[in-house]
Amino acid sequence: MLPEIKGLNEECGIFGVWGHQDAAQLTYYGLHSLQHRGQEGTGIVVSDRKTLKGMKGEGLVSEVFNTNTIKELVGDAAIGHVRYATAGGGGYENVQPLLFHSQTGSLALAHNGNLVNANSLKHQLEGQGSIFQTSSDTEVLAHLIRRSGYSHLNDQVKNALSMLKGAYAYLIMTENELMVALDPHGLRPLSLGCLGDAYVVASETCAFDVVGAEYIRDIMPGELLIINDKGLTSERFAMSTTRAICTMEYIYFSRPDSNIQGINVHTARKNMGKQLAMEAPIEADVVTGVPDSSISAAIGYAEAAGIPYEMGLIKNKYVGRTFIQPSQSLREQGVKMKLSAVRGVVEGKRVVMVDDSIVRGTTSRRIVTLLKEAGATEVHVVISSPPIKNPCFYGIDTSSKEELIASDKSVEQIRELIGADSLTFISVEGMMRALGQEGTNGYCLGCFTGNYPTEIYPDTLQYYYQK
Ligand code: SF4
Repeated sequence: MLPEIKGLNEECGIFGVWGHQDAAQLTYYGLHSLQHRGQEGTGIVVSDRKTLKGMKGEGLVSEVFNTNTIKELVGDAAIGHVRYATAGGGGYENVQPLLFHSQTGSLALAHNGNLVNANSLKHQLEGQGSIFQTSSDTEVLAHLIRRSGYSHLNDQVKNALSMLKGAYAYLIMTENELMVALDPHGLRPLSLGCLGDAYVVASETCAFDVVGAEYIRDIMPGELLIINDKGLTSERFAMSTTRAICTMEYIYFSRPDSNIQGINVHTARKNMGKQLAMEAPIEADVVTGVPDSSISAAIGYAEAAGIPYEMGLIKNKYVGRTFIQPSQSLREQGVKMKLSAVRGVVEGKRVVMVDDSIVRGTTSRRIVTLLKEAGATEVHVVISSPPIKNPCFYGIDTSSKEELIASDKSVEQIRELIGADSLTFISVEGMMRALGQEGTNGYCLGCFTGNYPTEIYPDTLQYYYQK
């Protein structure tokens, strides 16, 4: 096992502002709206054009920052980060943005994604004398930038980015510039907006709505966007690019009020539900969705099937997301604390229960049991993603192959294990149709099909398959 890779397995959210006097405050609100992407740590770095100053901590945005601490972050440019990390990958030192000071100036970095060649690069850099302060792959970029032989920062950054493989959306800030970079496959969403004369950048467009910013466009795969007082400059650090955005962003990760590549996430999920109603027509009395990420798909299923949508499951909103918590025991405990079945809705009823995914199967089994204990006579499970058979190497914690229930079990075997009366997963074609696509071009489907958009390095493979 390669312990350093553990810390690389993360899904995060990033937010940046250039040219606004309330940069830290806007970043606080932006990060708050991206909190679903990571709850284990958060930080903000500001530039007052003379120096960079940062503050970070473990916990939620509202736990780490308050009115007084935000007031201390003076400057008209800022970048911020919310972090999710698996067990062993947490710790204060890994909370971002990472901030580096040197004689030539300061550099702050915030990263969403996962590099698949981080270990190879780390070994190479350590061989050249680099000393790493964190176990996060984000730091690799800082060392590559500083070791680049180029004299201008833009060239140093472009050269460093061209050596990275995997998924990355980066915000890189110096005293005088904010740089925004997206990997050549554009695996993670990243959008540009404006607020008056200021520019904002965020992992999801829901953050623009919160701060009152206007969406301009998505960052392009392989693009390095440089924002400074002269305006915007778009450069490319990769000539060969093929968009392969993560389909799980639409299914599970992003907020329903976000738009990715012009597609509203709620609408995409609703379409997936409608598609499932065609693929899995079921005689039932009520349709319910597992809150929150499956409600849109459940509404779509109910609408297309002509079966009433009901709130058969209630979520305790003050408990963190199941998928986000690091250990199996915490995940199982989380489900018990988080969800309740509404007896008055499901008792004596045949229930269609819509969920977004089955990862290990334990959560689905627990929810089916909850509904049956509350008196449901039948529970038919429909899933708005295809079976997850393979791990994700690009920053979403779908676990090792052995932990994925669909990796070696048939749909019928999974149905039996979760105790459902029937089980249907959306087909890959159906999912693409729900996204308005005929083929699979432009999307990553690695965890469903095993076809990944990038080369996967042997040490990374070893970790994910033997974890
Ligand atoms: S492998 Fe799956 S979860 Fe990972 S980026 Fe691709 S679609 Fe998303």
